[in-house]
Amino acid sequence: MPFREFDFIQSLPTESHVMLQKGIGDDAAVFGEKDRWLISTDTLVKDVHFNANDDPVLIGRKLAAVNISDMAAMGAEPLFFLFNAQVNKKLSEEWWNKLVEGLLKHLEQFQVKLIGGDTVVSSDESLTLTGTVLGKCFCESPVYRSGAKPGDLICVTGHGLGGSYPDRHLQFEPRVEWSRAICERLKPTAMIDISDGLLQDLGHILDSSSVGARLQLWKIPIAEHIRELDGALERALSDGEDFELLFTIAPEQKNNLPESVVVQIIGEVDDQAGKLVAARHSEDDFIDIERGGYSHDIAE
Ligand code: ADP
Ligand code: MG
Repeated sequence: MPFREFDFIQSLPTESHVMLQKGIGDDAAVFGEKDRWLISTDTLVKDVHFNANDDPVLIGRKLAAVNISDMAAMGAEPLFFLFNAQVNKKLSEEWWNKLVEGLLKHLEQFQVKLIGGDTVVSSDESLTLTGTVLGKCFCESPVYRSGAKPGDLICVTGHGLGGSYPDRHLQFEPRVEWSRAICERLKPTAMIDISDGLLQDLGHILDSSSVGARLQLWKIPIAEHIRELDGALERALSDGEDFELLFTIAPEQKNNLPESVVVQIIGEVDDQAGKLVAARHSEDDFIDIERGGYSHDIAE
């Protein structure tokens, strides 16, 4: 059997400790007794998450951004950062310095302090970059994936999803300030950042919350540069690395959505646990959706 990431994560033990509020299973782990701290880690691999000929400044920027985005997803402010680099002897110093410059500049933009890490040199030509970010929540408690309730509205931030390759995945803006505004104004019931695609990440909220959802497909924001292309809606639903926030709110909070946040309500949570249904053109024209995402049936 081939390796399956989600099966592996599911197989890991569930730990408990008086200091541990949340272990595996969310965008970050949460620990501390009175003071709640959050920690999360993300890795970028050459030829998977970036290419050798990408601008090194943007690769460094992306390492900061993907990690910072997981703090935003929890309703937390990123504060400290660890940087682990597995480099190789073929790297030019100039290229590497630019990558580090991009990383540090983006950390500084979010006032995140680099406090440690590790550097190793590998014998092959691989290049693997890992960031670990620590933060504290904006409000009393973090926002987990598990709090969505039937009747809640499903919201997504940003100007449009899909088509983040080949350019936007290196330059996206982690939604830290939007997360702060959302948490302060709205008390979101569940939240995640869209790293694996809208349907996949909505699936994580549904599974964690034991609820289902009904999407209104005409409300899904589609990135402008792919809007006129074939399969644009499928891409908005399935493409990864948009890093927008996907969150749920109680319906009575509909009119409190902060003006500073670009956000669209795209559907509703229901009690059909694990089931995802999409209304295509109107409420009585709906289909079941494969949660993994991509399907040509959707737009018909
Ligand atoms: P995200 O996309 O938000 O970074 P992931 O899908 O990578 O989240 O991870 C989901 C959950 O599984 C997280 O809680 C993460 O900490 C945990 N996880 C992933 N890989 C491992 C691992 N190798 N060991 C322990 N926990 C892991
Ligand atoms: Mg995440």
